[in-house]
Amino acid sequence: MTDAKIIDGKAFAAKLRGDIATEVTKLKAAHGVTPGLAVILVGEDPASQVYVRNKGKQTAECGMNSYEHKLPVDTSQDDLLALIAKLNADPNVHGILCQLPVPKQIDENAVLAAIDPAKDVDGFHVVNAGALATGGDGIAPCTPYGCLMLLKDTLGDLSGKRAVVVGRSNIVGKPMAQLLLKENCTVTIVHSRTRDLADEVRRADIVIAAVGRPNMIKGDWIAPGATVIDVGINRVEGAEGKMKLVGDVEFETASKVAGAITPVPGGVGPMTIACLLNNTLIAACRANGVTPPS
Ligand code: NDP
Repeated sequence: MTDAKIIDGKAFAAKLRGDIATEVTKLKAAHGVTPGLAVILVGEDPASQVYVRNKGKQTAECGMNSYEHKLPVDTSQDDLLALIAKLNADPNVHGILCQLPVPKQIDENAVLAAIDPAKDVDGFHVVNAGALATGGDGIAPCTPYGCLMLLKDTLGDLSGKRAVVVGRSNIVGKPMAQLLLKENCTVTIVHSRTRDLADEVRRADIVIAAVGRPNMIKGDWIAPGATVIDVGINRVEGAEGKMKLVGDVEFETASKVAGAITPVPGGVGPMTIACLLNNTLIAACRANGVTPPS
């Protein structure tokens, strides 16, 4: 088997952000609306600070307004919910995102529930999760939606394909499975209690790995020619003790067998922020009675 096609998420995301910027320009010109994204960061987690900085930069680059709210680590839940209520009521804010995880004195579910579902650009509110499960018009979570875009770009029609999603979290695994079902895939979700994990993965035309365990999925688990989307982001020690990022799939061996595969970094990662900006554009259109671009 020849080496797999490498799915270039970085290039795809850059193109998507370019398309979003074009649509934002059109929205401003035709309707006088500038999409606005509010990002809340509680505390000083270094990884979260990097994400928030990147989100703000890319939001502005797309011509949208970026509102950053940095709150101290000891912020009370009441104060955070009060800020969310203010943003819910602000007509210039079309998308609200609270960077997770939040400090332990704050209940994450209460935060997610407080965000107006129409402004929930992360797609984590139960109303949006319910819409996804029942075929309604909600907002899809960014990372799984980004995976779906890469899959459709690679494979075209997904109808009838056997998809195995490894991981069942609310933010990746479950919504990913719903999106694939909507595309008429035959979907299996596997997790830490699954028996014969490798056998399940071996049956898949499409493998989505969202586990958080470095290099767990080996090349000999992959069916020849399968498409592999690696969501995992794991920091491990590389050469000379330097930290490096690896996925949940053992790239060296899997890329010898798969038909196509996403690298880590440069695969799914860049798609997440691009889809967040896309969701903000959609939310801004809907809030102003404009049909969102397809
Ligand atoms: P969670 O920890 O919430 O979920 C992990 C899932 O993997 C769980 O369902 C768990 O099963 C399952 N799992 C754990 N160990 C095993 C095992 N040995 N065999 C089979 N299944 C197992 O993680 P997330 O979904 O939040 O994230 C998954 C990965 O994706 C992480 O590396 C994260 O960093 C990355 N990620 C990347 C994003 C991006 O932008 N590219 C965005 C979000 C996440 P069980 O339910 O039984 O415990």
